[in-house]
Order: sequence, then C-alpha cells, then structure tokens
Amino acid sequence: MTILVLNSGSSSVKYRLFEMNGEKCLAWGVVERIGANGALLIHQRHDGDQVKLAGEIADHQSAIEYILAILLSPNHGVIADRQEIKAVGHRVVHGGEKFSGSIIIDAEVMSQLHDCIELAPLHNPANIKGIQACKAAMKGVPQVAVFDTAFHHDMPDYAYMYGLPYILYKKYAVRRYGFHGTSHRYVADRAANLMGKPIGELKLVTCHLGNGCSSAAVNRGVSVDTTMGFTPVEGLLMGTRTGDLDVAALLYLMGREEIGLTEANSLINKHSGLQGISGVSNDMREIEAEALSGHHRALLALNMFCYRVKKYIGAYAAAMGGLDGIVFTGGIGENSAIVRQKSTEGLEFLGVSLDVAKNQVLSKDERFVDTGSRVRIMVIPTNEELVIARDTLLLVG
Ligand code: AMP
Repeated sequence: MTILVLNSGSSSVKYRLFEMNGEKCLAWGVVERIGANGALLIHQRHDGDQVKLAGEIADHQSAIEYILAILLSPNHGVIADRQEIKAVGHRVVHGGEKFSGSIIIDAEVMSQLHDCIELAPLHNPANIKGIQACKAAMKGVPQVAVFDTAFHHDMPDYAYMYGLPYILYKKYAVRRYGFHGTSHRYVADRAANLMGKPIGELKLVTCHLGNGCSSAAVNRGVSVDTTMGFTPVEGLLMGTRTGDLDVAALLYLMGREEIGLTEANSLINKHSGLQGISGVSNDMREIEAEALSGHHRALLALNMFCYRVKKYIGAYAAAMGGLDGIVFTGGIGENSAIVRQKSTEGLEFLGVSLDVAKNQVLSKDERFVDTGSRVRIMVIPTNEELVIARDTLLLVG
C-alpha cells in the first residue's frame, strides 16, 4: 500500500511517500515559502534524482497539487496515477486531552481538531489546512491524524498538572501536554529492540535534541513525564526557546522592557535559548565550533544545554524509580558527540558510563555508546514519518 505522509506548517509542507510493503520511502521533499514570493519545491527520489522548482504557490491547496504533480511527473515522479495513494497520514501537533492515539479523520474528528486550535494557535491551523487540501485533492482517500501529544496522554495527573488554581485547569485545560511524542515513542521502541528486551520491562529516558528539544521518562513503554509543557517552550534549552523559566521573571521583564504579549512570546520562542545566550547562532554546530575556539558565551550556552539534559535524566530516573537506558536522537542527539558526553558525565553513580571513543564515531546506525555499563546509552536516529505511515496503515489497512 502506498501512503503519503504530510507535515504541514504555516508556510511549508514536508512530504514523504512510502510503499509500506517493505517500508520503502519512494520520494520525499518540501514546499517552502507558501504564500510568499519565490516559493520553492525541493523533491528527492529514492534513486538519488533531485529537483528544485521555483514558482508561485499561493496556499496549502496549491502546495498539495504541486506535490502530487511532482510525484506523478514522468521525469521525477514515482507513481503513475494519484489513485495509487491509498491513504494520507498527517502530523498534527496538538491533540489536547481528547486524543490518546492516531485516528481516521471524519467530520467529528475535524471539528475536534478545530477545538484544539486554541491550544496550538501557531501549529494546528496549518495542520488542518493540509488535511483540508488533501481532502479536496484526493476525494475519498482516508486521512489519518497522528498527534505529537498522544504518546504523553497517559502521564499521571501529578506529573501533568501545574500549581495553578485547579479551576483554571478545568476552565482552560492549562496543563502539561508534551510534544515530539511520535519521536519518543519510536526511539523507545527501537531502544528496546536494540537492548533485546521487551519495552514492558524497561525504564528509559529519551532525549530528542533538535532545533526543538525535549526529554521523556518512558516507563515500561508509557511516557510518564516529559519536559515540554502546555507549549513547546518549557523544559530543555533549545535553539531559540528558553526552556524552563521562572514565569515571574518574564512578568518582571515585560514591565521593565515595556513589552506586550506578542513581544514577550517572541522573546521566549525566537530570541532565547542557544541563540540568545551565545549571540552566535541557534545551530549547535556553530555553538560547538565557537565554544572550542574560546568564545565564552558559546561555551556557556553549550554548558547550559547539556546541564539541563543531565538534570532531567536524574529527575526522570527518580520519577521512574530506576533507569535502564538513555536514548539520544534528533539532529543534535544523533550527531553531537560533545553534547552526549557532557550530558552524561558525572552520572556514574546511576550506573551510566559513556565510552568516549565509541561516542566519537560518526554513524547513521542505531548503536550503543556506553562502556557496557548497567544503564545503556544509545544513539537512535528518529523516524517520525515512518511512525505516521505505520499508524496510517494500521488504521486504514
Ligand atoms: P533537527 O531539528 O532534529 O533537524 O536538528 C537540527 C539541529 O541539529 C541543528 O540546528 C543543529 O544544531 C543540529 N546538528 C545537526 N548536525 C549536527 C552536528 N553534526 N553536530 C552538532 N549539531 C548538529
């Protein structure tokens, strides 16, 4: 069965087409700058063929039509008829308290997705636009929603509640939801596979470290706590987000700097984190290079980043009453040896011991980077699109 996976953002749509028989990725790409001048489609085929097309792409509907056209194109395509696409799986950022797993999108689900917009006003509207565009372009083809929040749905209430008046939780559903759930779920499963043990016997901390970063405590296959909260701002230090912050400090700054809600939101989401601390970049590669050459603030940003990852490993070991494995994934987690080293050093008392030489080896493979210590340290490339395709197959298959 051929399944299209879509990740629709406000100005971009990423796609992957899978043949699920053998789980082969046939083609992938992205439409960027939707609605702006100089929109761009970058398309890659499994055999290495690559094409970049510039043009006017006014909205998500046109973006989906462009994607279908390139998938069908005689020169760069991989299918002969759009009817070969039997289902579409959509990444949906926020499923609120309602959605505990992936679901086929019908009229009722669509209306519930609209209800979740309030919780993710920056992300969910774009996800919904992608779904509507596909419904129009591929009439009758089942659409499936796979939520970033769903894996964290079973956290206990004492982990997801904030210390705000309970009435505000009931009124506005303000609580921890967590994100990157598809990635945490995937790497936790792969870690169990790599360790050769049933996931039901393992206590894992999964660290998804990319431009956005979050860790999760995965106890016997269930996410019991995670660092991101009501929004993706909370928790670890990120490329441009603050992570954990005393909310009263923000209120103080809003007063002192005389800034309103929009600017405060932009401050904590777009101008903080690695970028804000270092003044150099939000990209860990540049932070590392500058830190090594003696740039004080880049080194501070690197140290803060790793300290927080380490602090949460300890916290989650306590939350789960033990620890069997730590997983690193995401652009930074998969590629940065120094981040893995700094984030795990000093944890020998927990049974964590990194093998410095193994950790330095560059590889795209799933692997152990520990000394054979009681707590295993693993690097596992994430594959959120494959999880979306698998869930879609399971629901429509
Ligand atoms: P992601 O959001 O998962 O695509 O991760 C993107 C981030 O991964 C980039 O912003 C970089 O900071 C980081 N990254 C990618 N490659 C490397 C590398 N070789 N070393 C350190 N960081 C990297």
